[in-house]
Amino acid sequence: MSILVFIEHAEGAVKKSSLEAVSYAAAMEGDVTAIAIGSIAEDALKSAGKAGASKVLHVTDEKLEKGIIQAYANVISQAMEKIGANILVLAKSSLGDPVAARVSAKLDAGFVSNIVDLPDTSSGFQVKRSIYTGKAFANVNITTEKKILGIKKNAVELKEDGADASVEKFAANLSDADFNVKITSQDKATGEVLLPEAEIVVSGGRGMKGPENWGMIEELAKTLGAATGCSKPVSDMGWRPHHEHVGQTGVKVSPQLYVAVGISGAIQHLAGVNSSKNILVINKDAEAPFFSAADYGIVGDAFEVVPKLTAALKAA
Ligand code: FAD
Repeated sequence: MSILVFIEHAEGAVKKSSLEAVSYAAAMEGDVTAIAIGSIAEDALKSAGKAGASKVLHVTDEKLEKGIIQAYANVISQAMEKIGANILVLAKSSLGDPVAARVSAKLDAGFVSNIVDLPDTSSGFQVKRSIYTGKAFANVNITTEKKILGIKKNAVELKEDGADASVEKFAANLSDADFNVKITSQDKATGEVLLPEAEIVVSGGRGMKGPENWGMIEELAKTLGAATGCSKPVSDMGWRPHHEHVGQTGVKVSPQLYVAVGISGAIQHLAGVNSSKNILVINKDAEAPFFSAADYGIVGDAFEVVPKLTAALKAA
């Protein structure tokens, strides 16, 4: 069984969520080929081998540098054809989902996203996906010959014991029709860690009292290499930008560690964080609902606890 895995990269490295997708494909016991689009060093691509890919196809066409989704979908469809793959695996992400949807339309392939477990092939091809912001699961049977699987971040174990993959250039046949949408410019919004991708998130709530106190949240985040987030009222009041709002109506995160400072733990906030591997809550009210969702808790005044925690981490 030949499986293609679309791998994303940033800052010169393959994203961890994509390596997880490679490990997922390897666990299906297929012959795993990865495909990467855009400029990234060959050595960085070889790392996909550790996660379980035998080969990486590298597409370096300059026209693709700006990430035109329909062109990506065409490249990936052609790569699937080239290696005879009936299964495409990718990380569920803001790029992975639209690319997968277009490949799905092109190849008549059934596409399921947010998958958390290996397929059950005992009768058909059934996958388990996370739904209702992680509160429930749905088992879905994919009945098409070609299948696309979008893997939820942090849901599968990352394999790191394989050998380096070989890297091969791959050139797809692209026409002007693949580029009928033009991205005229792309600007990076921030040099900081991006919230949806972050492995650690430090979030502040109304308990922080005002935007003037965010320095200590940012300092803790910087010390941990974390992204900053906030509760909805905080962004509604303009203390923090809207793109930092975490929850049911905001960004959903699934980091290794979520640190919630002065956030009560309303159900709508928890809906955005309940896929976190570990949750640390800092709140002065021992009865705050967030403590019942926490792995670790500190009952105390954020204005005393956070600077001490940051200083201790810096000293460690
Ligand atoms: P509060 O509820 O005011 O809690 C502040 C907390 O800070 C308290 O627990 C308090 O004990 C603690 N505190 C105070 N001072 C200190 C101190 N000095 N040190 C330590 N702790 C302190 N909310 C979201 O966050 N995300 C969403 O996506 C979202 N979507 C919503 C959608 C709908 C339809 C609705 C109705 C609501 C939604 N909300 C959402 C709002 C949600 O219900 C809560 O009102 C909100 O999460 C509360 O924010 P908070 O915890 O920052 O503030």
